[in-house]
Amino acid sequence: MKVGFVSLGCPKNLVDTEVMMGLLAARGHEMTSKPEDADVLVVNTCSFIDPAKQESVDTILEMAEFKRTGQARRLIVTGCLVERYRDEIQRSIPDVDAVLGTNQLESIVAVCEGGQPAPAVEPYLYHEFTPRLRSTPRHYAYIKIAEGCDHPCSFCVIPQFRGRFRSRRFESVVAEAARLFAEGVREINLIGQDTTSYGEDLGLRDGLALLLERLAQIETEHPKWIRFLYAYPNRVTPKLLDTLAAHDALVKYVDIPFQHASAFVLKRMKRGGCGDQFLRLIERIRRTIPGVALRTSFIVGFPGETDRDFEELCQFVEAARFDRLGVFSYSDEETSESFHLPDKVDRRTVYHRKRRLLALQRRISRANLRRLVGQEFTVLVEGPSRESELLWEARLATQAPEIDGVCFVNDVEGPAPQPGCFRKLRVTRALDYDLIGTLVGHAEPQRRRTSSPFVVLDARRAQRPAAIGL
Ligand code: SF4
Repeated sequence: MKVGFVSLGCPKNLVDTEVMMGLLAARGHEMTSKPEDADVLVVNTCSFIDPAKQESVDTILEMAEFKRTGQARRLIVTGCLVERYRDEIQRSIPDVDAVLGTNQLESIVAVCEGGQPAPAVEPYLYHEFTPRLRSTPRHYAYIKIAEGCDHPCSFCVIPQFRGRFRSRRFESVVAEAARLFAEGVREINLIGQDTTSYGEDLGLRDGLALLLERLAQIETEHPKWIRFLYAYPNRVTPKLLDTLAAHDALVKYVDIPFQHASAFVLKRMKRGGCGDQFLRLIERIRRTIPGVALRTSFIVGFPGETDRDFEELCQFVEAARFDRLGVFSYSDEETSESFHLPDKVDRRTVYHRKRRLLALQRRISRANLRRLVGQEFTVLVEGPSRESELLWEARLATQAPEIDGVCFVNDVEGPAPQPGCFRKLRVTRALDYDLIGTLVGHAEPQRRRTSSPFVVLDARRAQRPAAIGL
């Protein structure tokens, strides 16, 4: 059979998609990037907030069209939307032939072949021997090191469908990383709902720091980058920071979603902390890791958020001067604890607060990037740009794939660039979120040019701010 996948949501969901593709390919089925050619279509959904739910439903209906116009015989829906609305999906969208929850990935072959899924017996987490077809460009990959979450954030429904926190075995992650590096991967991004809790359920103290140290020591023929995403503020320990500072392979990049800065709002979010406390943490991170880039995200419009709370958040952002920042509008999820809180903020106010915070960050980002003009940095070459055929794209170590800005390459000194190679880039201009520059210096040893074998249909719609005019 030819199977077409649409993968929505976060990189953790993409890894699930890659596992399902791996299981199907191991049984001889073929992946296709054209929905009109697929015999079976699979939509791996996201549902953590309203816009994500809407996108999932729209995509399911879009793929259902191919059952009418294309050769698709079956439409399968998987992922987080199924965990929340399993019965509603089957009742309201008759074109859907089967649904699979996040712990039923191993039933993908059965349901694609027309059979029934096995019930989820236990929380699922893949391992180093699980077949997996990577959909990211060959030079970078995600490794899911844990699943689920034990934090009680009152606005969040993820623990309801991703379950309790559970880590992958230490050696399982190390084995997968070693294999990926041996396959030519240059950059590994460690992911989970909260990577900084890694190993707690395995009896490890500072498990993430130990894991990063071990991964940094993997022998490779080529330079490598190792990054982790989704840190929880009060889990960022001195050992973790010292480990990041001590190893060149560990990129100087810390992603900590603070969510807010007002002690009142953070208390209602059941996250604790406050802006002053976070500023001290940020100061400690920058002192321990010179040149570190900080990414964060905030929620605006949480029930009870006053003008004063929002001002406090703006002052915190002004003081912290983050390198990368995302803003979400509060989403009133009916099964979340915060759904029952009074003092909901009207949508118009939420809209204006989001715009104001993004405008503030645009100014800070531009100023931060301007300081890099004239300097040279090692970059990972991505390939021809989607923005213009006159440009190539590359990334600094402090630019994570798909969520951060990029470096647009509009000139090259020396050999032609190759996707997946490390090169030096001289920054010639700074934009709001991106840089422009010239590739200089010598390339790595020539490698056989290869493109990614499989393309997921419509993979995650990039969350990076709107395309820039050059
Ligand atoms: S840490 Fe993240 S995934 Fe866990 S409950 Fe909080 S917001 Fe949700």
